[in-house]
Amino acid sequence: MTKIITRFPPSPTGFLHIGGLRTALYNYLLAKKNKGKFLLRIEDTDRKRYVEGAIEDIIDTLNFFKLKFDNEPVFQSQRLNVYKKAAQKLIDSGLAYYCFCTPERLEELHQKQRNLKKPTMYDKKCRDLTEQQVAEQLKNEVPYVIRLKMPENETIEFDDLIRGHVKFATDLLDDQILIKSDGFPTYHLASVVDDAEIGVTHVMRGEEWLSSTPKHIILYKFLNLQAPQFAHVPLLLNPDRSKLSKRVGDVAVKDYLEKGYLPEALLNFVLFLGWNPGDEREIFSLDEMVKEFSLEKINKSGAVFNVEKLDWINGQYIRRKSLEELANFAVYFYIKEGILKPIFRSAEVKPELTGYMGQNIEEDLVVKKSGEIISFDKFKMIIATEKERVKTLTELPEATKFFFQEPEYEKEMLVWKKADMEKTKQALDLIYNLLKEIDEKDFTADMLEKKVMEFIKANQLDTGTNLWPMRVALTGRQKSPGPFEVAAVLGKEKVLNRLKKAMEY
Ligand code: GLU
Repeated sequence: MTKIITRFPPSPTGFLHIGGLRTALYNYLLAKKNKGKFLLRIEDTDRKRYVEGAIEDIIDTLNFFKLKFDNEPVFQSQRLNVYKKAAQKLIDSGLAYYCFCTPERLEELHQKQRNLKKPTMYDKKCRDLTEQQVAEQLKNEVPYVIRLKMPENETIEFDDLIRGHVKFATDLLDDQILIKSDGFPTYHLASVVDDAEIGVTHVMRGEEWLSSTPKHIILYKFLNLQAPQFAHVPLLLNPDRSKLSKRVGDVAVKDYLEKGYLPEALLNFVLFLGWNPGDEREIFSLDEMVKEFSLEKINKSGAVFNVEKLDWINGQYIRRKSLEELANFAVYFYIKEGILKPIFRSAEVKPELTGYMGQNIEEDLVVKKSGEIISFDKFKMIIATEKERVKTLTELPEATKFFFQEPEYEKEMLVWKKADMEKTKQALDLIYNLLKEIDEKDFTADMLEKKVMEFIKANQLDTGTNLWPMRVALTGRQKSPGPFEVAAVLGKEKVLNRLKKAMEY
């Protein structure tokens, strides 16, 4: 069996988005499942649409998601001669031709076609220029493009591994430009030449490329090259089944990381955009994906992008992570929210998100406002109070802010719904005096709970009236983890201070 070779060939016209991550993941999985190769190629031949920083973003993001590519990435802009040669070969064998039509003429032509509600296509004016006419124009240095001589009245058929048998009438296909007037190849020519040269066996890409595939098949044939197999993965859809909007910023992968999704969770979510194992399982590590992935289980119909599902998966991953790891992922968001100060003491930690997330920070942290030092162990304890609850990492700083700074709240909040100000004051007083006598080393959630509950029982007190104000005094929040858990993490000194402040209130 020939070794499977897949490729991911992004154009650096923007940052890696969710659709691109899915394509990269599927290609990675298909290759790795079959012990084949997964290659990265940068299709940077469209100089007008080049976006600064896009290449770095794509490579950094793939690395961050551990979608390791084999070999060094290939840059098409460094291979212009290869494409020129291929185009020349086509011209020499009469399968491509020089076109000297001006952009103005083409625009006029297309406008006419649009007015008649016809598809905009080249009218083949230069297709039958004589050799002499061509030589003349070239001699006069008239700008030109090279076009493919699309066969007429033929049908191109192929078996797509996902979509099944597909047919295209060549009459509906344009005489595709292969080399642009700036001498750069178009995507079609360059990708065919490259895929053949590296021996790609499977081209897996978004459905939006399906209509380009017959052009590629013709090119393989004309260049005498072996065509790979094609697999077109379904479009991404909004929940209302409209095409997923490309609102910039909303679908970039790093934006999702910024929103507090864990990379493993995002990858797991992306896996399910068009694929499922055919059973109930929903959580897959990258290794499990490699084991389970198969082209046969990719759906034909569009894949709905459902953020609630992403939230759910992310929650699952947050619960499953060790505290250690989760805390390492969380630090970035506390710095972003201005709660902690940036730390770059470790050479491994870089200021950008992918430099922070999941890195072994494990150093003391500094609270930005007060300069107080928080040990990494303490930070872990703080994270533990919300680990079972939050859906995204961005929720953590807000939910745990009160551990780092004095809470602010309206004094009315201290009063439980079935109590009044007087009873509340008494309750705070009782709890304060009780906790004051408890030894620092007994300030654990279990111990505190035991002592306070025993006291409440012994004195026939009401739980809500007494515990509610304690919790609010410590957290300043309507909702939070229980008072004993919070007290244990805060420590005796801070607890007593906050209770005292509440009493003064
Ligand atoms: N450069 C194309 C893109 O940006 C590659 C399409 C393909 O996989 O052939 O998606």
